[in-house]
Amino acid sequence: MAQKPAARKTNPSGGVLPQVLWKKTGGSYLLTNDAGHYAWLKEKDFAAITAGRLAETGPLFAELASKGFIRDRLDFNDLAAKWKKKNAYLNYGPGLHILVLTLRCNHKCLYCQSAAAGLGAAYTDMSLATARKSVDFALNSPAMGITLEFQGGEPLLNWKALKGTVEYARKKAKTRGKDLKLALVSNFSLMDAEKAGFLLANEISICTSLDGPKDLHNKNRIFTGGNSHGETLKWLKYFQKKHAAQSPDYRVFKPGALLTVSKYSLSRHREIIDEYARAGLEDIFIRPLAPIGYARNLWDTIGYEAKDFAVFYLKSLDYILKLNRQGVVIREKTAAMMLDKIINFQDPGYLDARCPCGAAIGQIAYNYNGDLYTCDEGRMVGWAGDDLFKIGNVFRDAYKKVMSNGVTRVCVVSSNLEAQPACARCAYKPYCGVCPVYNYATQGSLWGNMPSNDRCGLFKGIFETLFALLKKPGNAAILKRWAGK
Ligand code: SF4
Ligand code: SF4
Repeated sequence: MAQKPAARKTNPSGGVLPQVLWKKTGGSYLLTNDAGHYAWLKEKDFAAITAGRLAETGPLFAELASKGFIRDRLDFNDLAAKWKKKNAYLNYGPGLHILVLTLRCNHKCLYCQSAAAGLGAAYTDMSLATARKSVDFALNSPAMGITLEFQGGEPLLNWKALKGTVEYARKKAKTRGKDLKLALVSNFSLMDAEKAGFLLANEISICTSLDGPKDLHNKNRIFTGGNSHGETLKWLKYFQKKHAAQSPDYRVFKPGALLTVSKYSLSRHREIIDEYARAGLEDIFIRPLAPIGYARNLWDTIGYEAKDFAVFYLKSLDYILKLNRQGVVIREKTAAMMLDKIINFQDPGYLDARCPCGAAIGQIAYNYNGDLYTCDEGRMVGWAGDDLFKIGNVFRDAYKKVMSNGVTRVCVVSSNLEAQPACARCAYKPYCGVCPVYNYATQGSLWGNMPSNDRCGLFKGIFETLFALLKKPGNAAILKRWAGK
């Protein structure tokens, strides 16, 4: 009788879990799971594991088992803890409350997403009564940490309301026991020492836009009353100096800046990043243009395809990493937030890449007249004449009613990745999020259609770039630092 060959110890119980997500990329397989773990497999190992033939001895099996990919080696407590940490936002109400203090603006930016009105449109200024009512509404959220973000138009055009709201919110938050954070998004063109002093003394974090070198910035951000780029750099420096010196009486935050990538930016990644580094900015938030608001009308001139952005993004990250190796401290913000999820199993507070997304349950936008929208993007659709994303009004509707109305619910359902056929099987699902407003504006449905959705294409490009960078030897330590800040 023929003797059986000596058995190699394999994993006869079936190998990987059925819900493991995978993607073939560059000759390897990327495996991910809902806890947020990832692993790379060679083609032969992928074939072995899917057939339940992967030898139980050896480092690959140990790695996959420790990451929750092997069916009979699951550490449920560890996996559940990681999932819970990554999805902690599901336990809170909306934390971000965007107050549109006015639609007026002295800039005419090509891509303006905030639906800005001319300087004469004073009827779009939020009254202090509306602002106070908005603060009361925001404080009804069960979230213990509440951020009030002042936006516009240019919010400094409604300085009186801004000042009054800050004073009111500070008092009210104290009586409600909430941890209040205040933030301002401004183009700085109306900043002066008195306003700056008030903002600093009230611990308001400050963010502006910087689109790159002077010619590029001023081409995108048209300011007939002066030099937008010059004002931006002047006040960035001012707040940076204050941050470096700090104050014995209050905390001074580092100022931040946002980069909106238009078609004009695509060939200039080095100059843009150099401009940020020269300006002493340690974060660059590279944001793709979305065909919403004014940008939609000008899409043929300033828009681009997802693949063009992916090339720009990859080149930008490569260049930033090169600068990091030369000792320059700078990181890209989208990458940092995604890496926080991928490496630290952490929720970085990126509302547009959550499941479900932050619409109403993570953020609310308060229009100048007290109308409530799921988010600022939903408000922009409203400004274009379609109030689908309006969820109430601070004078008429109670918090509970707003949170449980049909629009809030449908945004939650449509941005649930499990209910999105393409996302449910996508290897990037544990870190990604879809946008019902974008889907509606570009594809005519809140659910959209991911295989032909440009935002999905953009995110795929970002994840491909990040995982490719993580795989390259020498990058891991730097990327870990980006995620760890
Ligand atoms: S949006 Fe696209 S990249 Fe994100 S999970 Fe869905 S299919 Fe994947
Ligand atoms: S609808 Fe879109 S813009 Fe609004 S919170 Fe969700 S992902 Fe963000």
